[in-house]
Amino acid sequence: MSFKIFLSPPHLEANSQHYLNEAIASNWIAPIGPMLDAWEQDILIVTGRHAVLTTSGSAALELALLLLGTQAGDYVFAATHTCNATINAILHIGAIPVLIDSEPESWNLSAEFLKEAIHDFDKAGNLKRVKALIVVDIYGMPAKMEEISNLTEAYNIPILEDAAEAVGSEYRGKKAGTLGDLGVYSFNGNKIITCGGGGVLLCKTKEQAEWAKFIATQAKDKADWYQHSEIGYTYRMSNILAAIGRGQYELVEKRVARKKEIHESYLSLFHSLGLKDAFIAQKNDHAKTNYWLSVFQIRKELNVDPQSVINQLKQRGIEARRFWKPMHLQLVYRAYSYYGDNVAESLFNLGICFPSGTGMTTNEHNEVLSSLEIILKDEAL
Ligand SMILES: *Cc1c(COP(=O)(O)O)cnc(C)c1O
Repeated sequence: MSFKIFLSPPHLEANSQHYLNEAIASNWIAPIGPMLDAWEQDILIVTGRHAVLTTSGSAALELALLLLGTQAGDYVFAATHTCNATINAILHIGAIPVLIDSEPESWNLSAEFLKEAIHDFDKAGNLKRVKALIVVDIYGMPAKMEEISNLTEAYNIPILEDAAEAVGSEYRGKKAGTLGDLGVYSFNGNKIITCGGGGVLLCKTKEQAEWAKFIATQAKDKADWYQHSEIGYTYRMSNILAAIGRGQYELVEKRVARKKEIHESYLSLFHSLGLKDAFIAQKNDHAKTNYWLSVFQIRKELNVDPQSVINQLKQRGIEARRFWKPMHLQLVYRAYSYYGDNVAESLFNLGICFPSGTGMTTNEHNEVLSSLEIILKDEAL
């Protein structure tokens, strides 16, 4: 069954086409070239961080962990409410994830459960082996970073901000992706902007960025022949994809404004149906989300099963989704420790993501809203 209206499909404009033509004409199609340099410069201007464009957000996460000195057998604390890519980056280098629950407002990492984990590791004398904390800005909403960094600073644990979903979001006036020691965006096909597949690592120093680029391009030492003194990867983005992404990056503010309108259209619908309080949105008083997905937690008392709503939308050719299923509930990660109280689990049980594609036509958007109205009248009223 294929969808007429997707959850959050790519939305390209002529500027990407323009840069793409330029990249092809220049014959720079390798993972080196002027579009990579130009987009990294654009990112530096907007975020103040030294950017390293990569083949994926996952690759950028792995490079970040390596930069922080993470090795096999080390521990990395991470949010359990996330995409599996966050945890796989830890496991790919042989480190051990420790999964931390969400807090109920932002749905992001809970400082309270983080504190519990830190205290346990401290008591056991294992804190030195905790090389990083990965904080995720889920669905584009920044985490409550101040509460979190107050804790990690006291214990010297660096923060890696997985802002894969949060391009264009802000927290206390700072761009998401710059809230930790290192940050990551993803430009995968369904993210707010895309280059078809790619990511970026955001570094505080030029030296960090240079080391990451070196490791990401097979760690070639300066020599007239292929000489290697470190283990490298093929993690660098192609100049062709950078052309597409550079065009997309110019549109971020426009995309966020449209995503916000779409989110508000759902709120208006709930309001008109008398269901305003039945759908709970993410909340962080100090943040501006990019509304990557239009996400709501259905209040338990309403007795509406998100899967049933999703199935009915699917019959109408409209794609909606459940929330990320928490990592500590996934079979493949069941061996790893978890600190929490089932907040992420309850979000999974009650959460729903509605279509938020910025390229939706007015007709498509109206079709989503009218379909949802019919379904909700049947399910909830
Ligand atoms: C998409 C995503 C990633 C991975 O990015 P890729 O570019 O798909 O590798 C990592 N973390 C989160 C939270 C994501 O949503």
